[in-house]
Amino acid sequence: MSAVIVVHGGAWAIPNDLAEASVDGVKASAREGFAVLQKNGTALDAVESAVRALEDNTVFNAGHGATLNTDGEVEMDALIMDGKTLACGAVSSVKNIANPVSLARAVMEKTAHVMLTDSGANQFAQTIGVVAVPTDKLVTSYEMKEWEKHKNYVTGVMEDFNTLWPHDTVGAVAVDYAGNVACATSTGGIRNKMVGRVGDSSTVGCGGYADNFSGAVSCTGHGESILKVTLARLILSHVEQGKSVEEASRISLQYMGERVRGAGGVIIVTPMAQWASTFTTERMAWAAVEEDVLYYGLEPHEKQREHLS
Ligand code: ASP
Repeated sequence: MSAVIVVHGGAWAIPNDLAEASVDGVKASAREGFAVLQKNGTALDAVESAVRALEDNTVFNAGHGATLNTDGEVEMDALIMDGKTLACGAVSSVKNIANPVSLARAVMEKTAHVMLTDSGANQFAQTIGVVAVPTDKLVTSYEMKEWEKHKNYVTGVMEDFNTLWPHDTVGAVAVDYAGNVACATSTGGIRNKMVGRVGDSSTVGCGGYADNFSGAVSCTGHGESILKVTLARLILSHVEQGKSVEEASRISLQYMGERVRGAGGVIIVTPMAQWASTFTTERMAWAAVEEDVLYYGLEPHEKQREHLS
């Protein structure tokens, strides 16, 4: 049985000035997640660790580097799911948290609920001793500038969405040596979103899903479109019907494009360690580690490989 981790740093028209840092960031995150698997860690531990690395990297729109809503505030969504038990935890519209993915895991492990939102999620964070981070520590000067530039645009039109709004949400999927799969997704959402807007990233079956009977998926892209087609579950339903991971991802993204004009990207891994990374946006930074090889890419159909040293 082999162990695999796949990570993404968001599917959108990544500008050239962010391209190299995005690729470096996903490569580092995949290495970190794989190191957990190599030490016989669980898929759940691996995806949490990979996503935390991406949340800590200001290039990505999650944790440090999150985008601002119409009020100039950071509200983040995150989800984690264990394919062995279907246990899952999520937080939405949470503020002042450096690693929302770990808070989502705490919701899963320490409460009787699946999702906590807004002030309730923050109250819970406080009760379990998560240190609050001031908003200005999470916001980069790049985001401040971009928010000022675009704050008068109205979000929602897909064509504008792909070029004007960053959607460098992060995610990871993994299978461990025991054949268990897990997924995690984390985001600041879309710039200039309405206060209280919750996207796909924290919604079970949309921004992610994990089930040992089929596989684990993490999604990125236009959240409202992903929600409408329940993208993660849609992909896994095609896998359950015998489609390959590439085919299931491709036809589901194509369906989302045709049915609701949404673009996005997905990563998937199965308990048998088949994996794929697929997107319909201009670019998506992704990386995967399988055995001793690191794969990565940014452009459509790009698949570079490097031996892990
Ligand atoms: N799906 C995220 C959202 O709509 C955005 C992204 O993938 O970057 O909140």
